[in-house]
Amino acid sequence: MKELRITLKTVLVVAHLEEDVALICEALSDIDYDYITAHTGIEALGAITYQLPHIIISEIDLPELNGYELCRKIRTGIKTRLIPFIFISSSDKVDDRITALQTGADAYLAKPFNADELRALVRSKVSSFDELYQLSITDELTRLYNRREFLKRFAGELENPHATAVSLCILDLDFFKKVNDTYGHQTGDLVLMKLAEILKTRSSECFFPARFGGEEFVILFPETSAASATITIDELREELMATPFRQAGSIEVFHISFSAGIAEYPSMASTISELLSRADQALYAAKNDGRGRTYVFRPIMARNDRFWEYLRTRKGTFFEAPFNEPVSKLPYLPQTLEQIINLDFEVRSIGVLIIKLEPLFNLQSLRGQRNIDYDIENIKFIINWACECNFPSDTHLAVTNFFSYEVVALFPSIVDFSYNPEKFKGLCRDISMDFFIFILNYFFDIYFSGDVIYFEKGNPRKLLEEIEHIRDRVYLLDNKRDFFINIFNEVRHALYDSSSLKGVLEIKSFYNLVSMEPSYHYFSSSNFIIKTDFTELLLSKSIAKSDDFEKFMRLFAESFSGEIECPIVIPWVAAIEIDEYARLLGRALPDKKVVLMLNESVLESIPAELLAGIASDLPRNVSLGIDNCYIGNDILNILSTADFSLLCFSENIIRNIHLFPERIKIINGLKLFADELGIPVLARNILLEDEFQILKDLRISHASGPFIANLHQGS
Ligand code: GH3
Ligand code: MG
Ligand code: MG
Repeated sequence: MKELRITLKTVLVVAHLEEDVALICEALSDIDYDYITAHTGIEALGAITYQLPHIIISEIDLPELNGYELCRKIRTGIKTRLIPFIFISSSDKVDDRITALQTGADAYLAKPFNADELRALVRSKVSSFDELYQLSITDELTRLYNRREFLKRFAGELENPHATAVSLCILDLDFFKKVNDTYGHQTGDLVLMKLAEILKTRSSECFFPARFGGEEFVILFPETSAASATITIDELREELMATPFRQAGSIEVFHISFSAGIAEYPSMASTISELLSRADQALYAAKNDGRGRTYVFRPIMARNDRFWEYLRTRKGTFFEAPFNEPVSKLPYLPQTLEQIINLDFEVRSIGVLIIKLEPLFNLQSLRGQRNIDYDIENIKFIINWACECNFPSDTHLAVTNFFSYEVVALFPSIVDFSYNPEKFKGLCRDISMDFFIFILNYFFDIYFSGDVIYFEKGNPRKLLEEIEHIRDRVYLLDNKRDFFINIFNEVRHALYDSSSLKGVLEIKSFYNLVSMEPSYHYFSSSNFIIKTDFTELLLSKSIAKSDDFEKFMRLFAESFSGEIECPIVIPWVAAIEIDEYARLLGRALPDKKVVLMLNESVLESIPAELLAGIASDLPRNVSLGIDNCYIGNDILNILSTADFSLLCFSENIIRNIHLFPERIKIINGLKLFADELGIPVLARNILLEDEFQILKDLRISHASGPFIANLHQGS
């Protein structure tokens, strides 16, 4: 969290010669200012991109872009148009003065200027700018910061994942409409002002209130946990409730309270907008439960009882945003370019970063389309995050086409950076590396490429062409495919030599989330670099026929049967008939419990009667489970057709679940259904504390993955 400190006023001084810059700075040396200096108009625009000054003092004669042009640009930029602008010129001609005023300058001094005059001018312009500025960021009635200012200040503040807790509270007056209706609007206004006054007395570095609109206020608590924010908010409520109000001229006294919702970063959300939405969900719950209380967000509040409706209406198609790419919900490139053309400020260049994802295997046929869809949703979020962390300006994300997994991140700028793209290219590499590390567990290779293009508003076709050129230069970041192929080969070699599978594979566990004891086993590669569980992929890539599988299971039993204490889950491999497969499994591990896991693409392809037949004809020690479950609308039918002893969510849906309220809802809904049928629910490969916390809140009973294994070791 950045500090909320009061910074010195910043003056941007632009003059071609260093001695002229020095002369101006010296004239102002009586007042404490921070200086940014530039020697050309372009340099000045570049400086402004990174820090907004409170005033600009510029010469007119400048190379590349002269003072007039600079001033015009400043006046058209949405963030810069109010900044006072003073010209210093070697000419004293009336025509020049007029031109200067016409470009939007606030004052004009001819050289040699008088230092006292410049000082007085700067002081008065900065202070009237301040006044104007104050008006634009506060709310008229309460004089608290307004919504826009609040969001502006804090939108970029939460990017440090190691920051200490930050809490956010939304509070809303209870039955306020009735106050207006009964005692009149003016009395209502008094209540609002009184509440604002109470909030203001608490203002500090750790208590930042704003009026969000109507009778709704928001408070940011830097470095404060949700629990201590709750204490403060409850005190505020008591203070307000103890305040007697009455309509002017009336003796009847009334009291008022408010409801509040609180969410905490980073445990409950990772951005301001998520914090807001979670605090709002908590507020909604507080209102629902009778008002006059403060609730801290819990995942269960994100649940809504429309789960059934969701399943009924969501028939496998996702065309909610009809003009966007259906899975990532991102707009297509031409749409995004059009958006940029229509931005409020004039764009001179665009930084373009292209990230292309190439699936390592035919994932659709292996796990079904919906699991890939979840991956794409996860990945879109991660790209956005990587861009926001590395670049201060706005990111516009788009996709190039329907079929390939290719995301374009566009960074429009008011400065023409196309002369010198190297800095931007370095940035693209940083973003791609961040991204690469985050998707280490996904079955995609990443290609990337980045460059800056000069922006010509009237020529969108040329822009698209240039972006196409950048696409042609994509570069592979690392080769995961070979890495996986090596692992599959290791298994095949072990089979070929009939040697032990130890060292190649490892027995891992799903742990019971209450007792933290192992409750189900699975096996996976013992390679530790990729922290994902790909038993299914490993079996399907290294086993082609029944004989192989028989041999594999024999070796497996020899190598590991001493380590198997709980039921073991083993996925089905499509190359072998399912009843044959079950028979081989049952024979290989006769005194162990085995759960034969069928994933959803398998379940979709097996007719219900056949499934019921298979289920009733299994070896004594084998039962059926559902694996890599993505929760489509058929799942309830499947669950009611045959007996399943286990339900395992896919890693794809669990990944980053804390960022997707919709997913929390549907997982919760399915969990409730599984509870009714008495089927235990497993969550695969948990990597993050946030993911774990949500699963715990949803009372998912078992989970696997490095995060859980560490907890087990710790307990
Ligand atoms: P709840 O407990 O569910 O929040 O009920 P409520 O009546 O407070 O909520 P509702 O959203 O129905 O009404 C909000 C009211 O706030 C309606 C609007 O007239 C009033 N309001 C919004 N802004 C102002 C304002 O600036 N001054 C006054 N006097 N009233 C305002
Ligand atoms: Mg309201
Ligand atoms: Mg209200």
